[in-house]
Amino acid sequence: MRAMLAHPRILIAEDESGIADTLQYVLRTDGFVPVWCPTAEEAIAQFTAEPPALAILDVGLPDMNGFELFKRLQKLPSGAEVPMLFLTARSDEIDRVVGLELGADDYIAKPFSPRELVARVRSILRRSGRTGQAPAATPTVAPGTPPPMPFALDADRMQIRYYGRLLELSRYEYGLLRLMVQRPGRVFTRDELLSLVWDEASDSFDRTVDAHIKTLRAKLKAVAPEVEPIRTLRGTGYALNEELPPSV
Ligand code: CA
Repeated sequence: MRAMLAHPRILIAEDESGIADTLQYVLRTDGFVPVWCPTAEEAIAQFTAEPPALAILDVGLPDMNGFELFKRLQKLPSGAEVPMLFLTARSDEIDRVVGLELGADDYIAKPFSPRELVARVRSILRRSGRTGQAPAATPTVAPGTPPPMPFALDADRMQIRYYGRLLELSRYEYGLLRLMVQRPGRVFTRDELLSLVWDEASDSFDRTVDAHIKTLRAKLKAVAPEVEPIRTLRGTGYALNEELPPSV
């Protein structure tokens, strides 16, 4: 327990030892205590023995897929409070995670940058208030629950309302805004946006994303001229501003 206070335990469900080694190394270097489980069964056993501060789940595990594992872990005591991050190798898996019917906190696409992974782990722990602290005694906001937002997404109709006004969006503008609205604050790189929103990333460019963000911003500005809901992270990508006025 003492170790958990100073050094959050991070459970890793990953069958490839090379990836697991990298993960363990970067996490340990950053002051975390990684717990490697090569199978879903082992992950369930470790999680049951002591819920970690965060769990990293590979989607392609030998005995159970990561989505199924996620659901099983969520049903365990403390399962709903532990943030979980998927490791995915395929874009159709990414779609499923980003669709977030699952309510997982985030995903990392393989191959991943170790530094990006640690940064993601840190920011998730910070958001959930678990960094270097004992697990919160009071229930935290469920993972994936967005703060009150001026956006209302109707995925069935592929429509988004903004401050009550229905936005007239092109297919790509809708795709971009939907992603960001589902994960306020999450930074999407141009590459991610291209692969998640466009069908054929091959004949699109970074500037394609920028051009659509520009027209999207103009439409948002027409509704609320004083509000800038999309943040640009120079050289990186875009994110939805988490702090927006509830009304205009
Ligand atoms: Ca795997």
